Amino acid sequence: MFNYENQINPFTSLFRGRAMNRAPTIFLGLMGFVVSSRPMNKETTQIVEKLLASPQKIVIVGHKNPDGDAVGSCLGLSFFLKSLGHNATVIMPNDFPDFLKWMPRCEEIGIYEKEVQKSTEIVNASDIIFTLDFNSLDRVGDFEGVLKAASAKFVMIDHHQQPADYAVATYSDVKMSSTSEMVYHFMDALGEADKLSKEIAINLYTGIMTDTGSFRFSSSSPTTHRVAAKLIEAGAESAIINQKVYDTNSPERMKLLGVALNNLVILPEMHTAYITMTQKELDDHNFKKGDTEGFVNYALSVKGVVFAAIFIENKQESIVKISLRSKGDFSVNDFARNHYSGGGHINAAGGKSSQDLNNTINEFISILPRYKNELTDAL
Ligand code: 5GP
Ligand code: MN
Repeated sequence: MFNYENQINPFTSLFRGRAMNRAPTIFLGLMGFVVSSRPMNKETTQIVEKLLASPQKIVIVGHKNPDGDAVGSCLGLSFFLKSLGHNATVIMPNDFPDFLKWMPRCEEIGIYEKEVQKSTEIVNASDIIFTLDFNSLDRVGDFEGVLKAASAKFVMIDHHQQPADYAVATYSDVKMSSTSEMVYHFMDALGEADKLSKEIAINLYTGIMTDTGSFRFSSSSPTTHRVAAKLIEAGAESAIINQKVYDTNSPERMKLLGVALNNLVILPEMHTAYITMTQKELDDHNFKKGDTEGFVNYALSVKGVVFAAIFIENKQESIVKISLRSKGDFSVNDFARNHYSGGGHINAAGGKSSQDLNNTINEFISILPRYKNELTDAL
């Protein structure tokens, strides 16, 4: 079980933090916790211990368009499982961004989209499939059919809302900063926190850091910081990881950011700001996966704005990819679910539109007045 002596108990310390900061929402928070979280409790821990009692062939999968948390949590977990004597392989649905390509042993990650047959064979031969940092199998794109056809048992570790029910062991907690933080708690629950190596620590730290906006978002609890301290003690050097993730911009990306900021539209009445990016603007700046990551946060940083969106045209897939961010109680998870077949967290979510960019924007603007009261009262 959790190591109470170290006070890294995600439950009590989370509530302590919330109670101090947001007393009026503690009851709702408690309800949300009870209803939607499936903690790494005794029962789940025992199921996992049974599954891992002898050496297993394990596949670990993150979501499509993997971010720092998906890559960090999957790699961290894979090294942990290997240290227990299992055979563990990370397979992502598609490639991950260049700014993560320094992460320890990330070259060992299989990419389904690049190696369909090999990935399918590995999945078919596996005993256990861990799914990390997503809540529903449709988040893996074309890889979904392969996973659904597998005979392996599933284990889910995730912090997104509304987890689907496909796993024999589900560790789901929407209050967690990141799946990478949860991987640490997972190790701790199995009584194996001492297996934390430098490689695991760097991967998990990168996941926590990127998913919390370098510990800025309200999802960073006291427990998150305690886990981060453990990871730093185990060899994750915060300054170096920050540099590797944030200080490797290409000149084209910086110019593209200039275009994005120029395209920023602010709707003060609705406390909303949004950014558009056309395919041509992306092409003109030699767009690479991950280049637009974080742009939406500039829209959210405008004084008075509680809701920010970025609309990115993707001609190849005939969609507009949408990223949503908010402050306070305005749920972009609900907004993404209601309007963009998407989801995510209360303050960070995404989805897509199959209309063209102009119509997508017009529709967005027309929807906003319905949310005016919520947007006004969000903070
Ligand atoms: P981002 O805007 O950074 O791509 O994603 C923010 C959050 O929303 C992430 O937790 C991500 O998993 C989730 N998300 C992004 N796009 C989608 C989507 O199309 N569907 C769902 N269900 N979640 C998404
Ligand atoms: Mn995450």
